[in-house]
Amino acid sequence: MGGIIYWGLIRTAIIIPIIWGLSSYLDYSLWWSVSFLLIYGVILHPAIIQYNLFREHNKDIIEATLCSSCQYFDETAVLCTKLDEHPSREYLPCEGQSWEPKSKAEILE
Ligand code: SF4
Repeated sequence: MGGIIYWGLIRTAIIIPIIWGLSSYLDYSLWWSVSFLLIYGVILHPAIIQYNLFREHNKDIIEATLCSSCQYFDETAVLCTKLDEHPSREYLPCEGQSWEPKSKAEILE
């Protein structure tokens, strides 16, 4: 997840000067459209694709491990927030000792 944010920031840092520079060459109304397309195409769309790949890659851990039903599991980062470690299908950081069920409200989300 950190990689998605990192590369999003890198792309943002690159695209902002480009958009700024285009304002001198394009009509104002066209510049807005081009800016929007560049922001979506270069920053947002790749981030969405990366996030979907991240979810797909970690689908088993998110849905089918003991951690997936634990209140300390952060699905967005695939992280045990209690031990600050990343579980996997083969590695359970607490070995089940610290597992606590999610509340009903969390399960229904
Ligand atoms: S406390 Fe144990 S079961 Fe819960 S998320 Fe962390 S490693 Fe997984």
